Amino acid sequence: MKYLIIFLLLPLTAIAQSLLSGGCGNDIINPENNLQIALLKDLKKNNVFIKSINTSNNIEAEKYLSNNNEIKQYSSLDFNSEKFDFYNDILDLNQNYVIPVVVHILHDGGNIGTGLNIKEQNVVESIENLNTYWNNSESSPIHGEGVSMNIKFKLAEIDENGQPTSGINRVDMSSNQAYLDHGINYSAESVDGIDDYNSDAEINSMREFASWNPEKYYNIYVVNTISDSSCNRGGIQGYARYSGAHGSISDGTVIINCAFVDALGKSTLAHELGHAFSLPHTFNGDLRVEDGIQVYGCGDDGIDDTAKHKRSTANATQVPCNSTEINFCDPTFDKIMSPTKTGTGTDQDIVRNTMNYGSCTTEFTFGQQRLTNHAMLLNRTSYINSDATGINFQRPDVSFIENESKTGGILSWSNYNNPISNTIYLFSGGDTYNSFINGANTTNETSVNLDYIDQGMRHTLMVNANYENDLKKTSEITVTSKIVREYFDDFEDNSKVGDWIVLNGGDSGSWRLRTNLASGDTIEGAWHILYDATTTHDDYLISPIIEVKNGLTDGISFNAKNESMTYMEDIDLYVIDENYENILGTLQENLTPPEEYLNYKFDLSEYEGRNIRIGFHSTTLDQYIFYMDDFKVGNYNTLSLNKIINDEIIIYPNPVNSILKIDGTFKTAKIYDLKGKLMIESSESIIDVTQFPQSIYIVKVITGEESADMTLKLIKE
Ligand SMILES: [Zn+2]
Repeated sequence: MKYLIIFLLLPLTAIAQSLLSGGCGNDIINPENNLQIALLKDLKKNNVFIKSINTSNNIEAEKYLSNNNEIKQYSSLDFNSEKFDFYNDILDLNQNYVIPVVVHILHDGGNIGTGLNIKEQNVVESIENLNTYWNNSESSPIHGEGVSMNIKFKLAEIDENGQPTSGINRVDMSSNQAYLDHGINYSAESVDGIDDYNSDAEINSMREFASWNPEKYYNIYVVNTISDSSCNRGGIQGYARYSGAHGSISDGTVIINCAFVDALGKSTLAHELGHAFSLPHTFNGDLRVEDGIQVYGCGDDGIDDTAKHKRSTANATQVPCNSTEINFCDPTFDKIMSPTKTGTGTDQDIVRNTMNYGSCTTEFTFGQQRLTNHAMLLNRTSYINSDATGINFQRPDVSFIENESKTGGILSWSNYNNPISNTIYLFSGGDTYNSFINGANTTNETSVNLDYIDQGMRHTLMVNANYENDLKKTSEITVTSKIVREYFDDFEDNSKVGDWIVLNGGDSGSWRLRTNLASGDTIEGAWHILYDATTTHDDYLISPIIEVKNGLTDGISFNAKNESMTYMEDIDLYVIDENYENILGTLQENLTPPEEYLNYKFDLSEYEGRNIRIGFHSTTLDQYIFYMDDFKVGNYNTLSLNKIINDEIIIYPNPVNSILKIDGTFKTAKIYDLKGKLMIESSESIIDVTQFPQSIYIVKVITGEESADMTLKLIKE
């Protein structure tokens, strides 16, 4: 059986592109275009087809506009019933039919995301944009005064072998020079590329390289070029076959790569799918070729609410999108075309119709909707209720209730469509450091008790509903657990870093965890902020939520140091509300640690009973590096130091104002100024430095054991 092939011809030179935005453009048609001639020969057949459709429709406009229409939904089984009255029972314009689509990408062997081998996201977006056209989605930038077609396209979720799929089939054509050079032939006369389909003994045509069962999937082929057309040169952008081809190897849409990827900017894909659901061009039959010369007359698609007209790109000019000139083919046309549009006998009746040519096309009419729905039900019924779309598989509804002690809780869910089982995952550690912690837990229950979840973390609880064919539908819920009891993080295990939040103001640099400055090598796990030479930091590092409880979580401690005593970072330390919207109090301004880690400890008791976070705020410019490590929450009175300056000696505070304390066993401590002058020598654990001028000093502590001796820069404030 020979199927009518319909082509979309669009001019898309760079110049034409710029004109398109002004509503202009032109239609380049080769007068020797054999296809157009062939199309004319097929016109009679085409008209018979349309007539038969319209005869079988036999539906008045009033009927499908009324609200009294009984909504009926049919499965493919219904169509086999003898009692089923096709023409009287079938029309259901409120049904959203879902068409399983497979997109074959015939690429040039490059990595995914390069060249013709477009990335999955491009395909997903193109199908979304196709649906935007077909649904006349109000949120869309191309939303027009058309109707929704009640038909939705969806990338297949189950492939021909019953396995999960993205609905994308990548075909490496890098060894096929004919394809690489000339793409797909669209007529017998063009021989340089590969055939759309031929039935000879060899595997050498497009359909043989890639085709999924056309009864189950609508096949879309994304190709480099069709008979040497391109988006730049113009010519054929795509072609499709009417719905009568359903189930045959020749069914499907073939579209060139650039037109497919720009499925919002170009209506090519939406237009081709219109053909696939039996819509002719609105100007159908307008072109005659007389003695090799193109002559445009008035065309008609046989649909009563699309005006007769001449294609809007005839004679190398385009009717402007906003034109309200009289349409001389149908000046008295006044049909109701959509909920918001009635014909006026002007170009506006037709210039925006998706089955017209031109750059303004965004709309379908009631009549076109009716015809596509009939094409669906006449020819494409095998798509209805197809499992390939995955729409019979739904995600579970998930909820979580914390237990009273806030150490765990109950994760529960409702299933739909009877999955075989559910699998539960718990990921903890926020967005960046997600890792699997609890192990997979497959259950036939509809809830699980999580005995314990780490405090101070953001947890993602994921529930998979497992359907047959290994198809999974996933829902997830995010739970933030507060610090409600003793807590310590040395930031050594990235997978367990708590719910720390970085708010990056100022320059692009900000708080980071465990990244070396120069080489990318890791350093000891710690938060650090790195200098910026051009813009002042305005960066917060914000701790997990702490529920302050007397004697339990009313204190924090941490270690901090500077990389350089010459370029010293200083940090303001705040108490911040749990939603990090307001500063509740200041723990210390200008916290400026020395070069060796120094422990800091703060009392939170005034926030008793509240949920707070700790904020480290950097506002420096062009200093060096600040480190924060070993963050601890606990009882303020018994909070111990997590890490001392070395194993034997602790010197604090640094910077010092008056009294310097030295903990540990030592023989003597000497303090020098930067010129080497000995300022003081003492064996006491308390040294009064009140009289020292503000400066930097060197402290040497002699223990008697060389390995334990230490030298430290001391800042006198
Ligand atoms: Zn077309």
